[in-house]
Amino acid sequence: MSPTNPALSCTGLSKTYGNMFTKGNVHALDKASFSIQEGEICGLVGPNGAGKSTLIKLVMGIEPKDEGTVDMSGLDPRVALGYVPERPTFFEDLSAYYNILYFARLTGAPDPEGTSRKLIDEFGLKGRGDDRVSSFSKGMKQRLAIARAVVHSPKVLIMDEPFSGLDPGMMIELRGLLKGLKNSGMAMLLSSHELNEIDQLCDSILFIKGGTIIRREDLDAPRPRTAVQLTLETPSEAVVGALSRWSKRAVSGDGRVITVEASREEIPDIVAEAVRAGGRVVEFRPAQVKAEDLYAEVFHTGVVT
Ligand code: ADP
Repeated sequence: MSPTNPALSCTGLSKTYGNMFTKGNVHALDKASFSIQEGEICGLVGPNGAGKSTLIKLVMGIEPKDEGTVDMSGLDPRVALGYVPERPTFFEDLSAYYNILYFARLTGAPDPEGTSRKLIDEFGLKGRGDDRVSSFSKGMKQRLAIARAVVHSPKVLIMDEPFSGLDPGMMIELRGLLKGLKNSGMAMLLSSHELNEIDQLCDSILFIKGGTIIRREDLDAPRPRTAVQLTLETPSEAVVGALSRWSKRAVSGDGRVITVEASREEIPDIVAEAVRAGGRVVEFRPAQVKAEDLYAEVFHTGVVT
């Protein structure tokens, strides 16, 4: 698996809906271009009405696009994509096994019976494969929906709000499942409002607003300047003053945690300055780039860190 192998490349995707009430047009998506590499988990983040569902529908081919291309290295996106909707529906009176088998046959998966049984076990439904789906919990249905979506080994799995309504245990479990799929080389595009989960899972984020992708952020890309966080035993105005030559991002409410922005080379100087000013430093670390900080920066929500 090469990190530079695009699994999905979209160029100039656009969609305008006509509005029969106002007779006006809604530009739901405007020239959206992006690509996702094999094994990359990409978050799709934006406020309601930003165009996330439209983008997913155009990529999936559920909705006809006005313009643009979807390229999957020559593969047919209808075959090379898997999809988990926000509220998956099932044949509730049939077993989990038959629900998967139906999709396995529909998508032409090899050895549909064997593959369906294998997925039941792999997705934590061992021993429940022959039970009716109507008896399943929300977490089990979520796992079944993912098993069903990957039955044909898609290159890219697209999920719409996969974390909505899950309890913390189910979120941890889902995170583990998705990391397993990533390790097998599957790429993912996840639309989500759960910025904490985006932090835990995603390699990159597409920020979308008013139908336009306004920023792509690679979460583990090296940065010229980074936020560094210094924790003192007791608050000290002298230390805050001594660090004033670095642009200050925040001082915590109790005054003990100071976050400044600096280049990597300056990090030893920050500690030295703090100690020289009489500060007793108990912890020092680069602050992780958080999806929530980026969200505030991109959408100017005024969230203070
Ligand atoms: P999101 O998923 O980010 O909440 P959507 O893609 O659903 O956003 O919607 C983007 C914009 O397109 C919104 O203004 C929405 O009202 C409009 N829209 C979406 N689907 C339709 C449709 N079928 N007909 C008319 N307008 C639509």
